[in-house]
Amino acid sequence: MKSHVKAVVIGGGVVGCSVLYHLAKAGWTDIMLIERSELTSGSSWHAAGGFHTLNGDPNVAKLQAYTVQLYKEIEELSGQSCSLHLTGGVMMADTPERMDFLRLAHAKGRYLGMDTELITPSEAKAMFPLMDETNFVGAMWDPVEGHLDPSGTTIAYSKAAKKLGAEIVLRNRVVELTQEVDGTWNVVTEQGTVKAEHVVNCGGLWAREIGRMVGVELPVLAMEHMYLLTEPMPEVEEFNKSTGREMIGVLDFKGEIYTRQERNGILLGTYEKACKPWSPVNTPWDFGHELLQPDIDRIAPSLEIGFKHFPGIEKAGIKQIINGPFTFALDGNPLVGPVQGLTNFWCACAVMAGFSQGGGVGLALSNWMVNGDPGFDVWGMDVARFGEWAGLRYTNAKVRENYSRRFSIRFPNEELPAARPAQTTPLYDTMLANNAVMGDSWGLETPLWFAPKGKEPKDIVSFHRSNDFGPIGEEVRATRDKVGVTEIANFAKYEVSGPGAEDFLNRLMTNRMPKTGRIVLTPMINEFGKLIGDFTIAKAGPRDGEDRFMIWGSSAAQKYHMRWFEKHLPKNGPRASEVRIHRFDQTLVGLSIAGPKSRDLLRKLVDVDISTKAFRFMDFREMAVGGAPCMVNRITYTGDLGYEIWMAPAYQRLVYKAIKDAGEEFGLVDFGMRALLSMRLEKNFPTWFRELRPIYGPFEGSMDRFIKLEKNDFIGREAAAKEQSEGPKLRRVSFFVDAADADVMGDEPIWAKVGKDYGTVEKPHGYGAPRFDTSGQEVRGSKAAQGASAVRGIVDGDWRVVGWVTSGGYAHYVQKSMAQGYVPAALAEDESAGLFEIEILGHRRPARINVEPPFDPSGEKMRT
Ligand SMILES: Cc1cc2nc3c(=O)[nH]c(=O)nc-3n(C[C@H](O)[C@H](O)[C@H](O)COP(=O)(O)OP(=O)(O)OC[C@H]3O[C@@H](n4cnc5c(N)ncnc54)[C@H](O)[C@@H]3O)c2cc1C
Repeated sequence: MKSHVKAVVIGGGVVGCSVLYHLAKAGWTDIMLIERSELTSGSSWHAAGGFHTLNGDPNVAKLQAYTVQLYKEIEELSGQSCSLHLTGGVMMADTPERMDFLRLAHAKGRYLGMDTELITPSEAKAMFPLMDETNFVGAMWDPVEGHLDPSGTTIAYSKAAKKLGAEIVLRNRVVELTQEVDGTWNVVTEQGTVKAEHVVNCGGLWAREIGRMVGVELPVLAMEHMYLLTEPMPEVEEFNKSTGREMIGVLDFKGEIYTRQERNGILLGTYEKACKPWSPVNTPWDFGHELLQPDIDRIAPSLEIGFKHFPGIEKAGIKQIINGPFTFALDGNPLVGPVQGLTNFWCACAVMAGFSQGGGVGLALSNWMVNGDPGFDVWGMDVARFGEWAGLRYTNAKVRENYSRRFSIRFPNEELPAARPAQTTPLYDTMLANNAVMGDSWGLETPLWFAPKGKEPKDIVSFHRSNDFGPIGEEVRATRDKVGVTEIANFAKYEVSGPGAEDFLNRLMTNRMPKTGRIVLTPMINEFGKLIGDFTIAKAGPRDGEDRFMIWGSSAAQKYHMRWFEKHLPKNGPRASEVRIHRFDQTLVGLSIAGPKSRDLLRKLVDVDISTKAFRFMDFREMAVGGAPCMVNRITYTGDLGYEIWMAPAYQRLVYKAIKDAGEEFGLVDFGMRALLSMRLEKNFPTWFRELRPIYGPFEGSMDRFIKLEKNDFIGREAAAKEQSEGPKLRRVSFFVDAADADVMGDEPIWAKVGKDYGTVEKPHGYGAPRFDTSGQEVRGSKAAQGASAVRGIVDGDWRVVGWVTSGGYAHYVQKSMAQGYVPAALAEDESAGLFEIEILGHRRPARINVEPPFDPSGEKMRT
């Protein structure tokens, strides 16, 4: 065993072996994988070995597609077979709602390069004759599904990595991790200590315990999972003989089961409602190649439906039931990337579908470690996406909820109840008393909308407009015509201070920093010129003679942004103390008042001049509001005249009561987050993680006026200048949609009657960082449209899929259904009617670009 290496990968399951292989392939060969026992000693050896590409997050879906196409490569390099069976598979819908869900998934596939197809139950039965097709209303066919040998695949990765120069040490547990002042990790093992620059946690069932070695409680939990294998079945053998094909994989949402052929019989697995965590607090280190006791009673309800839907299987004898544990994060997606607050400590764990995702996880992580950037939009699996609130008990409740709902529909207006409320503001009870329907915003209870008095404050979940439609309309109209108040505690808030604060922010942000008492809006981009943040920044008065900036951003991105800020702080040496960053989280909360009467209202609560001249649009002041010390921004996300008022939590009730009392004479209403999002739509304002994501350049995102290329040398300046001079390929645009009773939700395809190929049909996935494709060649930029024309359903006569929706909904004040999305730049200013259609739940609806925002296009109202 070497004593010094560049990186140690802990864990020899499928994920650790994939990470090792991808690191070696990217050129880091001085690396070592350390495994406690033999390879596959966690959950990898007893997996059912199924793989598929479908995922709720299109970016994760793309990485799953990459994983599947990787298997041939590692087989060739290692000489080890993965026993790949690319059978294809179907997802069966038993209700119209589930069919809507499949239509959505199929529509997304149009620009993701996926070749799915909607088929009838009879067509599905022809490929899997054991089913009773009368239980279903439709199905979706995906050719990129199948199964493989889990152990063979893990060994294939490991052999391929070894061929490229990586070392694997078996039967050697990592017992401790410590870090030297210079950042070197001491990886203390049963066989001695290895010094490493980087450590990767691929501990699978023990990932949580490895996290604890460095003081981190990762939000990951193992669940018991069962599948059964039948005796050989004559029907299966007959099908194979008569068709010359293997039976396909079938996913039955209603039964919460998946099934496929295994040898001459059938494998059938369940995600049962009565699910059970395994080792919820500590994972025993002596757990080896073991299986858990099967519990047939637990899966009986699923089996009952399964046998009804697939009567052919009921007749077969059960040969074996496998029960084994594997891990999940709160949302079922992996935890990947560098852990905020630590240096060179990486995660690739909570991979619940190692044989669909392991390759993509390995590729993204190795890009990140070698190039400083994952090369893809990996937000959906970034370890930074959960906050401190996701502790052990929260994780336990949420993972159980997620497991039991694995095959349930998540409606766009559906809030899930487990582990809530976690964080609340002082106004929580008041908002409940006001009949608020609350939502979870990064662990914080936030009012979404207010149900009318006497009505139960509850969403009726649906893909269509629902019971919140009327009340949200009321909130919007009252705010736009008079004045409204809403809680905005769910924004991220930071203070950056110190003598180096301004230089630091100027280096990170694309816009100039504001003068004292002023506010700017600014994107943040990475060195590849892609959007990684969007902030409101105010310069506060100096404290102890030092500069002080207040920053507001996306709540969900707090750890993601802190990781970036920390990475770029002046490190050791004399400048190290020049910049300090403080993340407030819920130690600073807020209220926003908006609407034409908001100034009159605020005037009653303050003792300073807030006239148009004294307190201008985009001004920032510290002032007492209702007697409480507050910070006030003259800006609101509604795009009206309005204010954001920030205070310590101890003052929030006082300020809210003062606003309510003073607002009575102006007709003040409470409005929730959904009304706020509706109002931003009619101003064409983007949102972070929807319109703005790391796959888009700032000019593509139509953020042109916030990019000051001439100001100073900021991170990504060169790439942004290139994007500007070459002209962005895509543009973010707003649409009016001629919708019926359902508005867009995001990820719908945009069709245009253009008759020619714009070459941007496939959504960009990689974002410019050097990365390696499956042939080992370095790829730069998006592989947009490569092979896209082969995808079924993107061309229809003169119509073509030219882009995708990022978000939208109903804009209540202008009374129009609206959508935002990306289209080729050449089409972005064409407001012609009849040019675009947006596919909503399988129906193409006419849409028209609106270049100017329909509400207050000149911005006069917010400047008044
Ligand atoms: C019954 C069942 C069916 C499944 N079916 C499928 C399926 O059909 N398709 C699919 O894609 N996935 C399936 N899975 C899930 C799949 O098994 C996991 O996604 C995958 O195994 C995760 O791999 P991993 O490498 O992250 O973790 P693991 O396989 O748990 O590997 C972690 C490794 O780390 C080692 N380790 C831990 N701590 C240390 C330490 N301190 N020092 C040294 N080594 C350490 C362990 O010994 C272990 O070998 C199934 C799982 C089960 C249980």
